[in-house]
Amino acid sequence: MNVFETLESEVRSYCRGWPTVFTKAVGSHLHDENGRDYLDFFAGAGTLNYGHNHPVLKRALIDYLESDGVTHALDMHTAAKRTLLETLHRVVLRPRGLEYKVQFPGPTGANAVESALKLARKVTGRETILSFTNAFHGMTLGALAVTGNSMKRRSAGVPLQHSMPMPYDDYLDGQTPDFLWLNAILEDSGSGLDAPAAIIVETVQGEGGVNVARAEWLRELAEVCKRHEILLIVDDVQMGCGRTGPFFSFETAGITPDIVVLSKSLSGYGLPFALTLFRPELDVWEPGEHNGTFRGHNPAFVTATKALEHFWSDDAFSEQTVAKGERLGAALDKLVADNADIGAYRRGRGMVWGFGADDPGLAGKVCAAAFDRGLLLETSGPLSEVAKVLPPLTATDDELDAGMEIMADSLRAARSA
Ligand SMILES: *Cc1c(COP(=O)(O)O)cnc(C)c1O
Repeated sequence: MNVFETLESEVRSYCRGWPTVFTKAVGSHLHDENGRDYLDFFAGAGTLNYGHNHPVLKRALIDYLESDGVTHALDMHTAAKRTLLETLHRVVLRPRGLEYKVQFPGPTGANAVESALKLARKVTGRETILSFTNAFHGMTLGALAVTGNSMKRRSAGVPLQHSMPMPYDDYLDGQTPDFLWLNAILEDSGSGLDAPAAIIVETVQGEGGVNVARAEWLRELAEVCKRHEILLIVDDVQMGCGRTGPFFSFETAGITPDIVVLSKSLSGYGLPFALTLFRPELDVWEPGEHNGTFRGHNPAFVTATKALEHFWSDDAFSEQTVAKGERLGAALDKLVADNADIGAYRRGRGMVWGFGADDPGLAGKVCAAAFDRGLLLETSGPLSEVAKVLPPLTATDDELDAGMEIMADSLRAARSA
């Protein structure tokens, strides 16, 4: 009996592309119960930026558990939470001149997105949130309302309201400036758009097809927000914690969002953990107004603290990520050149890349062939038309080269199938 097919809901998803049972994971590798080894170029959709079971984080976690450190504490003060807040301030916020207050919104990315939308609406007294084409912000109702994917939106079962999508960078015909429409409807009192509370944006759309916003585009967006007194929310759930190089993905653009949401790699160990950061003036919450049982998962605070200390005390990790990203980009350039006849393209930044071709079905075939060859690679985009390359940031150059070789081989196989 296959217990998964018998008992687990049809809603299961990633397991369908990778039909095996995993038992162990170390660094950039997963192992299954048949003794097969897989190179992980998925990294928990960006949750495992430091790889699986990083020894430094694991040691901190085991020590904490063995000392009977508090595991669950709602949002009570604990020593682990104090150390986390101090470390976040010292290692991340202060050196970047960011004066953010820190909210513990609940353990998931969607929890953080919901809290950001609620706060923006409360602060401004406005309802509408503007989002972007192909955005992904999570599966709860508020987050779905600002998400693009029509299949995911349909799952809501109720109208998704008080939001409106705008064209993301390079969405239109390449000639119309993307902010032409947004500026026009914001400035025209006859446009029919109610003044928005906030605009929510990903600097790179991880789920939406690895679409990369240019720094100039992000700066212009920040200016539009400022001019119209709209709050700017950056959803850094997937692209934060160093995925694109710097800790926050918006640093290279030189913008300062009003609100930032983080999750996925924040705990560093794959433990559920999210934070909402915002300018202190925006902290209009009443005590308990956004509550939740699992906002004080202290083991995640412990591994998050250790990850910040270990990887972010200087610029070395960030520089190394940029260098590894260039290595991946060069390998993808070669793949694109070798497959120009089928309209191959690649896009990305830092350690997140996407590869596709004219045929939107090709990426899925490449990922299936990659699994057969021991590489975990997942698709992205509204038609699953992009193969997303998302290795742990700690992957060695040899692992990156090996993964790219398997990907090239998988593409050859997919093309001739
Ligand atoms: C994964 C993700 C979310 C949702 O996080 P969950 O933990 O799955 O709720 C939100 N935004 C972005 C950009 C994400 O990648």
